[in-house]
Amino acid sequence: MRKSFSYLNPITHLGEKKYSTRFPVLATLGLALLSEFYLYVVIRKPETVGIYAIFVFLAAIIYFSFRNGIRGGLASVVITILYYAEIILTRNAPPAEKVVQWQTTLLLAIVYTLIAYIIGWLKQRIDVLIEREADEKKRLQAILEQLPVGVMVTDIHGTTVHSNKQSDVILGMEMDGKTNDEIRPLGVSKYNGSQISPSKWPLSQALTTGKAVVGKEFSLTRTDGKMIHLQISASPIHNHEGEMLAVASIINDITPQKEIDERKDDFVNMASHELKTPITSMKLYLQSLRKRLAQLNDPKAEMTLSRIIYQTDRLQELVSELLDVSRLQTGKLTLNKESFCLNTLINETVEELSAASKNQHLIVESAPKIVVFADRFRLYQVLTNLITNAIKYSPQNSNIHITLKKQTRSATISVQDFGVGIPKAEQKKIFNRLYQVTDPKKKTFAGLGMGLYISKEIVKRHKGRIWVKSSPGKGSTFYVSLPLDNNSKRRKK
Ligand code: ADP
Repeated sequence: MRKSFSYLNPITHLGEKKYSTRFPVLATLGLALLSEFYLYVVIRKPETVGIYAIFVFLAAIIYFSFRNGIRGGLASVVITILYYAEIILTRNAPPAEKVVQWQTTLLLAIVYTLIAYIIGWLKQRIDVLIEREADEKKRLQAILEQLPVGVMVTDIHGTTVHSNKQSDVILGMEMDGKTNDEIRPLGVSKYNGSQISPSKWPLSQALTTGKAVVGKEFSLTRTDGKMIHLQISASPIHNHEGEMLAVASIINDITPQKEIDERKDDFVNMASHELKTPITSMKLYLQSLRKRLAQLNDPKAEMTLSRIIYQTDRLQELVSELLDVSRLQTGKLTLNKESFCLNTLINETVEELSAASKNQHLIVESAPKIVVFADRFRLYQVLTNLITNAIKYSPQNSNIHITLKKQTRSATISVQDFGVGIPKAEQKKIFNRLYQVTDPKKKTFAGLGMGLYISKEIVKRHKGRIWVKSSPGKGSTFYVSLPLDNNSKRRKK
């Protein structure tokens, strides 16, 4: 029943591009026979063929044009006109009336042909458009399937309506038709291993906020037990009215890169540990050598030794920076917090660095006494890094201002130089691990790009903030804001 309905329904034939004439011819003939049966057998007045013959056959022509295109419509017109001719020939109308009948039939033939042509043409255009869209869809599908990343399209209720092969392979299950709730139990966790709430899934976030989520990293335990690392971006798809229709997610399996990164971190950790001991012994030997040399009164040898000691100190700093980076990566950097006066720490650090840098003037702008609850050594490290950078990247004889300011809940330290400055595009990146601004035309400075990364991580662990304002050629100001120690009195008791 349903099959025959869909055979007769012209809508189901849209896009088929099959324009047969057989069905329109047979069906119109059937209609003519039915009409004759009605006139001769049912009402027995064959000459009373009325206006209905025009409308019924017009409807049939429209139907066949829409179902079978121009050819189908024209086939139906031919049979209709032949039937009209048969009526004129077989009924005994007066000659004058017959002339009018032939004229009307001719007029109807023209109108029917036009209608069949227009509707048939429209149907054929629709077929071409549908076919083009289907081809486009197939091409897009083929591209999606070939992509080396997983692509998933989810409807607004969180059900996957399309997933490419790669996303099924990455996530270890067929994703088509899966709901957001079915995906969640995969056990998503954040990169450091702690479990995150399902609402933080990029997909869930894009669904609830309607905003794109870019490049979020996750680790996830698949149903086969394998732990994988993913980078996911999810972007909502809106219609012209701004209404959300779906969310498209791109899933990148970064497990191999993460494994290499982990091996690299392990290597850096091991190498810096191994380097630390010999450097410490070297420094001890150098100190005792310096004492002996002092007795020999050989200024040239003393100068050479001073240089060796300076370079050994640099080496020791680099190794300790490497160690800090690997501690940060593995979450092993611990803070030994105490209450202390920030002004004193700044003055001591500046004093120490002033002795080492004779080419720049370090100017401290004092503030009322500020107490913080923090790791003194780590903050000393941050300050040293900011001030040595300011020295490193500014011209000789320039000033460097170190300012401390107190706000209601925080203290802000700023280190301002009048040096090379940092282009806007680089200002965020300089806080990334191993990032250095490179300019082939400018001179290069020693360093590995670890200092600001370590500083940022230390400040972050103090619930503080670090940022920079800079304009190339004019200089830079680095700011560190730290929460004040409001509990110092309670802590003393
Ligand atoms: P590095 O050991 O290379 O100095 P940092 O992490 O301390 O590493 O700094 C990263 C990059 O930021 C540097 O390579 C430099 O290009 C830029 N930078 C840092 N401080 C300044 C500054 N005061 N003026 C200009 N550029 C700076």
